[in-house]
Amino acid sequence: MIIQLEKNIAASQKEKLQEKLQSINYEGNEVNTQFGNYIVAVGKKDFDIRSIGTMEGIKDIHKVSDPYKLVSKKWKVKDTVIDLGDDVKIGTGHFPIMAGPCSIESEEQIESTINHLVENGIKIMRGGVYKPRSSPYAFRGLGMDGLKLWYEQAKAAGLKIITEVMMVEQIEAMADYVDIFQVGARNSQNFNLLDALGEVDKPVLLKRGISGTIDELLQAAEYIFSNGNEKIMLCERGIRSYENAYRNCFDINAIAILKEKTHLPIISDPSHGIGLRQFVEPVALASIMGGADGVIMEVHQSPEKAFSDGQQTLSYKQATKTYEKIRRTYKLREEFKLI
Ligand code: PEP
Ligand code: MN
Repeated sequence: MIIQLEKNIAASQKEKLQEKLQSINYEGNEVNTQFGNYIVAVGKKDFDIRSIGTMEGIKDIHKVSDPYKLVSKKWKVKDTVIDLGDDVKIGTGHFPIMAGPCSIESEEQIESTINHLVENGIKIMRGGVYKPRSSPYAFRGLGMDGLKLWYEQAKAAGLKIITEVMMVEQIEAMADYVDIFQVGARNSQNFNLLDALGEVDKPVLLKRGISGTIDELLQAAEYIFSNGNEKIMLCERGIRSYENAYRNCFDINAIAILKEKTHLPIISDPSHGIGLRQFVEPVALASIMGGADGVIMEVHQSPEKAFSDGQQTLSYKQATKTYEKIRRTYKLREEFKLI
């Protein structure tokens, strides 16, 4: 159950509400975010919600039986739209493309990527400065030095930055240089990291775990929301299956289901989703028809020389064609009124 509180609810009214919840064996968890004040009440007993809905200081009350509550569409029918400023928005009615290399590699590479993105009207640049790698001997990113170089150039070009944060301890130093924190698949259920990102007023793109279920992804997002941050988007990036003809099994079903279950924007990552350059475009386009609210993809000046994930990275020439098709496919979806 989600109880939306009036902004100016008095402490005594809150106390009365908690007493009422106790009397019906419900535990009331207080959640205060950038946008609202809530009590998420968890319990088993069925009761008439009007007995709470009519109490003083209560704005609204909703029954949400899902294990995840605040990220559920059952109480918030209107989809979340995240405003990054400068007219860059993410969520229903907008269709952002985020593109850039898997890893930030050098000042020259940043400049070349920015030129490519600006030429193509792309407003959000991706890139990793802290890289989760299977091998400890692989390139693990330029860290804060790389992020600062990137920030200087991105800001001058009017681009937003999305980059992965791997540890709680990195958040504070990164926050001034980042527009969207990415939580990678390997950290999708790092609950301490999710708790900490809930306390930051910065959008978070939360990726689905390598073998994560849809419910687990939604409950992971609930950690962020319940700690105070409503600016969350979810990302389908494929899950591990028995198939080895491709890197991951990109789950379009999940996008369609997520759109029904949550009000949060859903971003598709076809690059990691299939892991093979020649199929990134068809998977991207399919994900749009499946309901995605945006696409994040890997591009590089010379994909074969990329420090990481070159095999799934598009060249600028290829990517330019793909952006165009992505935009046309989104328009077609709007025309079809698929979602
Ligand atoms: C990435 O975006 O480069 C990345 C490491 O993604 P994922 O966490 O989905 O593997
Ligand atoms: Mn990558």
